[in-house]
Amino acid sequence: MFENFTVNSYTPMMQQYLRIKSEHPKDVLFYRMGDFYEVFFDDAKRTSELLDITLTARGKVNGHPIPMAGIPYHAAETYIAKLVRLGISVAICEQVGDPSTSKGPVERKVARVLTPGTITDEALLDNCNDSLLASVACKRDSFGIASLDMSSGCLKVIEINGLQNLANELHRISPAELLIAETVAEEVNLSSAVVRPLPPFEFDIDNGRRILNKQFNTRDLSGFGCNDLSLAIGAAGCVIRYATKTQRNELNHITSIQQEDSSHNVFVDIASRKNLELDVNLRGGRENTVLHLLDYCATNMASRLLRRWILQPLQHLPSLQARQASVTEIKDTNMVNKLPRLLKQIGDMERVVSRVALRSAKPRDLARLRGALSALPNLAVTLKETTSDALADIKKKLKPLPDILSLLESAITPEPPITLRDGGVIADGYDTQLDELRCFNTSANDFLITLEDREKKRLNLNNLKVGYNRIHGYFIEVSRGQSGKVPADYTRRQTLKNAERFITSELKSFEDKSLNAKSRALHLEKQLYEQLLTLLNKNLLVLKECATAAAELDVLSTLAERAKTLNYCRPELIVATGIDIRDGRHPVVENALKTPFIANDLILNQEQRMQIVTGPNMGGKSTYMRQTALIVLLAQIGSYVPAKSARIGLVDRIYTRIGSSDDLAGGRSTFMVEMTETANILNNATDRSLVLMDEVGRGTSTFDGLAIAWSSAYQLAKQIKALTLFATHYFELTELPSLLDSVINVHLDATEFKDDLIFLHSVRGGPASKSYGLQVAKLAGIPLAVLNRASNFLSTKVNSTPAYSQSEDDKNVGQANNIEDSAATAILTRLNDIDPDHLSPKQALEVIYELQNLLK
Ligand code: ADP
Repeated sequence: MFENFTVNSYTPMMQQYLRIKSEHPKDVLFYRMGDFYEVFFDDAKRTSELLDITLTARGKVNGHPIPMAGIPYHAAETYIAKLVRLGISVAICEQVGDPSTSKGPVERKVARVLTPGTITDEALLDNCNDSLLASVACKRDSFGIASLDMSSGCLKVIEINGLQNLANELHRISPAELLIAETVAEEVNLSSAVVRPLPPFEFDIDNGRRILNKQFNTRDLSGFGCNDLSLAIGAAGCVIRYATKTQRNELNHITSIQQEDSSHNVFVDIASRKNLELDVNLRGGRENTVLHLLDYCATNMASRLLRRWILQPLQHLPSLQARQASVTEIKDTNMVNKLPRLLKQIGDMERVVSRVALRSAKPRDLARLRGALSALPNLAVTLKETTSDALADIKKKLKPLPDILSLLESAITPEPPITLRDGGVIADGYDTQLDELRCFNTSANDFLITLEDREKKRLNLNNLKVGYNRIHGYFIEVSRGQSGKVPADYTRRQTLKNAERFITSELKSFEDKSLNAKSRALHLEKQLYEQLLTLLNKNLLVLKECATAAAELDVLSTLAERAKTLNYCRPELIVATGIDIRDGRHPVVENALKTPFIANDLILNQEQRMQIVTGPNMGGKSTYMRQTALIVLLAQIGSYVPAKSARIGLVDRIYTRIGSSDDLAGGRSTFMVEMTETANILNNATDRSLVLMDEVGRGTSTFDGLAIAWSSAYQLAKQIKALTLFATHYFELTELPSLLDSVINVHLDATEFKDDLIFLHSVRGGPASKSYGLQVAKLAGIPLAVLNRASNFLSTKVNSTPAYSQSEDDKNVGQANNIEDSAATAILTRLNDIDPDHLSPKQALEVIYELQNLLK
């Protein structure tokens, strides 16, 4: 910006711009000029680069052109959406004064600031994902987190200890925008969010309490069960203040604060959430995830709720039983067929209602609300069929709202335009004054037709026509050649290439009356629309409740449909420790396979707390382990599960240490990631946790790895007593059951047929007898010559070691280790590492070279 110039160097309009911009130094300021938003100075340079629009100049200051970029008003939403998605906040400055009466520049004001975490506009939001604003207050190692969903008005708080838990919670909430105390901002690495560090006083607890009481119109927060909270209140106050500032409006739809009770939730850490591919797959996409499989919701608001359920399983038995009972009732009645169609009509009522609350609802939002309300009577009839009280609360909240419906039916035209700008939104018959003004406009049409006919005859000009354009107003048009024939009472208005346009005093006086009536009608429509929003806001609470209940019903109905279609069973939920799954399946793998999925049993209980899982690569170890975690997780969101029967003792935490992925961006090697995750599990798992460990120790040398795997397994079984599935290639670990009663061996079965290896994918008792490393290498396309040499090499080593009493390849690993032959160990480890499914030709070549080198 041209700070060196005094304010007086600028035109009055630029002075106004600079004054407003100084209140929004960090936002891009969209300054309204007629049909355009204009951005100036650095904002213009930045915007033109980011949006790929022309950078030009408007006027000069002391001889220097002022950089400017313009965005047409009608297309602004798309551009704003782009900027907000890039994490940029946009302040929208509108003309609020009347240009005809203003001296100097029209009065302008910032109407709203659009930020990633506070947007509610349809065009800017992702239908399937929440867009949350979160804030973190901290004191030493304690944190209060508040998260606000502006679209639903839902404000949640939670208090936790420890940076790791903070990282985990933030990952679960995955806000679009995070307000955080400057002092800890650096500690948080959240790729999903725009992080805004703020000074600590913004999180002041007393101030937070005042802000919240004002927001909810309460004297204290005990009604919300939040009186004992401190840091969370500071965080919530910060969120509300920030949101109010951006909306420039009351946030009427935020009516309560909800404390998330971490003791009711199942803790699923970041790594497990990723490993289990709950809502995002390992490649970052949405396909083949649990959410993708289950999300058959009729409305987007329900899809978002389902995602929240999946990311936040519960260990609160009554809540889960209520969900289960509802799913069962829907599934076992005709509701499963009827509900989706009815719910579809409700649409994304949650977001519509929030825009009503923020008074930013567009005409089509109100039409959608009307559509939603008109579905309620039929929904009520359908819900009448419910016999249990499981759905009673939902049924109560989904009662028809005939008064609001008839208000909307009488007020809004059947198919309103997108915006209010050109009118046509308020229905005929809603307001007599508007009807009269419109009537004038209709009779005006008759007048124009009569006038045209009369003048045609009077001047004997057949091609004379009466028209209108926005700049010049009404005119009588005569072709160029015949313009000499017009009488004296015609005054020239505009000359075109082939025609002349005229006005008469009669047409002029009609024009004055007509334009006046038009603009009065438009003005009145805007007023009526505002009044309508006020009326709707009086019913906000009931509308909000209705939207929430419809979303919940939609999720329950989806779970019912999925349970039926995918042949899931209702798990028995108990508080005692233990998991008993009969014929369990992996929900996503089963769905993706073209061949039948082999179901497996699993029993973990007080006596049998750990399974050491062995078997060849590709045998199905990971699938078996993940399916166990997913079945438990599904049970703990209230869903049916892919099994013939299941009895699930509620778990408090789910940990998975699966696969080895580098965190190169975070600067940690595979081994470092593996060890950090293992340490986290060993430090935090309890005897009610479900722990999956896959190939721990693989990222380091064989001996270190074996030592780490052994001692981790031992600690989990002996000290922590967690329910654990421990997959390993270290055959030594199969000795653990002889030391600890609570550990058993299982293996994934495979068999050789002629020279081929057939994976049976069924879980059997006892340890695997073979690792089939060479066979898997063969499947991966390793050339036969290399395989033969490897095989000869192994048998020489085996035969030359008389102490070797075990048979077959797996034992060869131990043997090779015993004789400390690094080449043999390396070959076998390498072969075991190969995953033929994901072996690219380049990797295959690398493996071959590596093996050849080792065999030299
Ligand atoms: P491992 O972890 O032992 O290397 P995976 O669990 O990754 O093996 O399984 C490899 C592949 O085998 C899976 O991608 C799947 O296609 C198939 N598979 C695994 N378990 C089963 C099963 N129970 N039924 C059918 N196919 C299975």
